[in-house]
Amino acid sequence: MNEKPEHFIVDGKRLDGRRVDELRSIKIEIGTLDRADGSCYLEWGNNKILAAVYGPRELHPRHRQKMTRSVVQFRYNMASFSVDERIRPGPSRRSIEISKVSREAFEPVVFTKFFPKTSIDVFVEVLQAGAGTRTAGINAASLALADAGIPMRGLVSACAVGKVDGELVLDLMKEEDNYGEADMPVVMTAGGQITLLQMDGHLTTEEFYRALELAKTGCDKVYELQRQALIKKYSEEYTAEIEDEYIEDAAPEGDADE
Ligand code: ADP
Repeated sequence: MNEKPEHFIVDGKRLDGRRVDELRSIKIEIGTLDRADGSCYLEWGNNKILAAVYGPRELHPRHRQKMTRSVVQFRYNMASFSVDERIRPGPSRRSIEISKVSREAFEPVVFTKFFPKTSIDVFVEVLQAGAGTRTAGINAASLALADAGIPMRGLVSACAVGKVDGELVLDLMKEEDNYGEADMPVVMTAGGQITLLQMDGHLTTEEFYRALELAKTGCDKVYELQRQALIKKYSEEYTAEIEDEYIEDAAPEGDADE
């Protein structure tokens, strides 16, 4: 594990050169996996995350089925090679907790009533961890759900705010996460409705409200990147479909494969 740095902010810049309200760089690819109904690969700083969605599909065992709605199931998993020291494979207290809160972050936005007796299964695999894996996983899962065509009130977007050297900072990096004074992951809809809020450490009431504002600016930026990624994926597919149709229409009769 890294040593605790003496200062986290020097001349207004953080250890990785960011301003206090700046996000780490984000890269998004939608539809990475062929066999999932929806998928997303997301890089956020040093995090590398894959999200896959299956369903709605019949839920087994059947006694777990709900007659009036679908059941959202969420599994967050860290690959054993995702951190410096090998992680023991299988569920841990931490992964069970993150799976639970992540599922709860989606419950208010997924229209589960459309699909009684089914499950919607979300898998988040952390291939490389670098602080903020739960928020990165939720952002990827949000896009994988949209890619699977699951009806939702909207996307959710996630971002953490923390406190280091007595200052609020957006999107914690590893040292800030490990040694900071507070860590507050927030998930919200585009309209600013909070679907998950956790907090580790201490903030005063005034700091808490400022932290929430800062989290909103982070979630807004993430939302915009998510939206752009969806537009890119689906406008490219749409263009390809039009081109295919054009080629079929333009082919002389009798040339087409029978
Ligand atoms: P989050 O990843 O959502 O910030 P935590 O605050 O629990 O969740 O973890 C912070 C960071 O600590 C992770 O992103 C990861 O880089 C690191 N970490 C978590 N669990 C382990 C572990 N078992 N071994 C080594 N590093 C870990």
